[in-house]
Amino acid sequence: MAIDRFGRGINYMRISLTDRCNLRCVYCMPEDIVFRPSAEILQNDEILTLFRLFTDLGFNKYRLTGGEPTVRAGLVDLVREMCATPGVGEVSMTTNGLLLSRMAHPLAQAGLKRCNISIDTVDPERFKRITRWGDVEDVWAGIAAAEDAGLLPIKVNAVVVRGYNDGQDVVDLARLTLEHDWQVRFIEMMPFGDVAEFQRAQIVTEKELLATLEAACGPLNLLNSGRLDGEARLYQIPGARGKLGFISSVTEPFCAACNRARLTADGRLRLCLLREKEIDLMTPLRQGATPEDLKLIIREGIWKKPWGHGLSEEVIPLNRVMSEIGG
Ligand code: SAM
Repeated sequence: MAIDRFGRGINYMRISLTDRCNLRCVYCMPEDIVFRPSAEILQNDEILTLFRLFTDLGFNKYRLTGGEPTVRAGLVDLVREMCATPGVGEVSMTTNGLLLSRMAHPLAQAGLKRCNISIDTVDPERFKRITRWGDVEDVWAGIAAAEDAGLLPIKVNAVVVRGYNDGQDVVDLARLTLEHDWQVRFIEMMPFGDVAEFQRAQIVTEKELLATLEAACGPLNLLNSGRLDGEARLYQIPGARGKLGFISSVTEPFCAACNRARLTADGRLRLCLLREKEIDLMTPLRQGATPEDLKLIIREGIWKKPWGHGLSEEVIPLNRVMSEIGG
């Protein structure tokens, strides 16, 4: 397994398949965002080449993301090739779910293990306001299809934004776990690039959110004695079928346990979501670097992975917005 200079084993790669998205969520990107020309984005065979090198280096947990991964042409074939790679472990996906009603079954047949599906509110009007473009019914249809296709367990992601979905919306989302065996996860909004000012002004912290939920649902049970499940601290409404997760990278960073790296859609290895430094893999790949050369670049990059983010020292990554990195 690749390790960094702090002794952390890095085995989890999040791959952004595209910077494009069929939504324009207010906390993720500006509405008038300009996407990269496709020549500047990794082609499917290039993604597969890097994927196989990562797997050779001991990566065995993959998450496909974006932008919106389901808008990537050839996605099902790409997933099938990935899942057929010896040593691959688990391939899962984070998606807004809009296209899942028709893609969940083919993706499951291609080997995809499960999906995290983003839905920031169940209220149709407020869903449209926060995503700028979306119809929440499409997400419900996507979640139903994912369940039907066996992409389990279902995890639902919500970014909480003051003035958009921080009141009844989070309570309604949490109450979904009364009926459904889902993990509903609340994500603290992180600051990036051109959207950073809005993100920093409208953030709702885990502490505040917990108070809102407990006022509405009663005391929540802390699970696992507070130990993280992946990146989420888990709670449960007493008697609920599902669980609540809090992903609080801003106020409760979990950098010490970070085991991740990211591949951006334009072929850069991003070692920390919230640090600007990246390693260019696309240029050497296109210039004919050998697999051994590329593995050395990746291993050396991982070795230099930053200890953690610098938000508490006001260090904010400005070179990209979230949709370009992949969350
Ligand atoms: N389009 C897909 C989706 O909506 O899930 C995948 C990409 S999206 C960038 C991945 C995750 O990042 C989503 O759950 C999204 O809500 C979250 N996200 C986007 N911007 C964020 C921000 N500024 N802070 C925290 N999470 C964010």
